[in-house]
Amino acid sequence: MATQIQTVTGPIELDDLGPTLMHEHVVTGMPGWETDVLAPGQTRRDMLQISKDRIAEMQDVGVRAMIDPCASDLGRDVEFCAEVSQASGFPIVAASGLYNEALGGTSYWKIRGMVGQSGADEMAEIFVRELTEGVGDTGIRTGIIKIASGSGAITPYERMVFEAAAKASIATGAPITTHTDDGELGVEQQELLASHGVPPHRVIIGHVCGTGDQAYHWRLVQGGTYLGFDRFGIESSNPDEVRVASLLALMQAGATSRVVVSHDTVWCWRGRPFAPDPNWTPGQFCRRIVPLLRAGGATDAQIDTLLVDNPRRYFSGEPLPPLEGEGA
Ligand SMILES: [Zn+2]
Repeated sequence: MATQIQTVTGPIELDDLGPTLMHEHVVTGMPGWETDVLAPGQTRRDMLQISKDRIAEMQDVGVRAMIDPCASDLGRDVEFCAEVSQASGFPIVAASGLYNEALGGTSYWKIRGMVGQSGADEMAEIFVRELTEGVGDTGIRTGIIKIASGSGAITPYERMVFEAAAKASIATGAPITTHTDDGELGVEQQELLASHGVPPHRVIIGHVCGTGDQAYHWRLVQGGTYLGFDRFGIESSNPDEVRVASLLALMQAGATSRVVVSHDTVWCWRGRPFAPDPNWTPGQFCRRIVPLLRAGGATDAQIDTLLVDNPRRYFSGEPLPPLEGEGA
């Protein structure tokens, strides 16, 4: 079992990990942003100020750490994350991995594949290097692996990335977190990773709060992974009211130990910023969602399980506890 978590400023003891948001982004750039030469995005100084403000908002409501699962093809900047982390004394975990085929920076790997030179082994080698030695020559290590699928089906390209992630996870002990398009293909992601030997409790299936289908959520629970209720505040894709009802249903069914929470906020955009939902800031869960959960019957202990126990257990590699009410 791991006893430490790797942050951009070095390892910290898992026992010291406080309330943690499992999916927020300091900076993101969708591939192609660099062609928008008339709007290159915020200056580094502006970015630093925005990031410090966002962290202060989290600290005000008791959040003590976050995971930034930015894939390496979406404008990831681990040095900037380290600067932000140092300036605010707030631990941030960065990721290795690649985004989905539809929206990621895939050309390089596809062309290598066309000439028969690409494979999961090359990608896995990169992920392992970043997880164990650092990104490029920065010496800044990543602490988690991020992978993604799009809509309809997991593509051959995405399957290659999943295989690479599985290899790197097994080799290093780093856990995996995924992007789904609003929860779609979560079961397929579970099956694919399991087929490559990844224990389900090392995996978070992300963005499953994009659907209010509670039977589907329960299927994911039975698949033995964590579920990412990680887009609170993105009401344009699903109202928070539906997210809260779905989360309460899981908690009432005894699956509190299976869920991690976050907002998937992006603080700084490369290129032109995308118009945000008004409630899309990283203090929202504690400030606005927790009271709704309490009103729906959730206890303080259950809220702590979501924010503290589950992130610690996921990183430690400890198996999941039985569902509440089971094995009693
Ligand atoms: Zn994200």
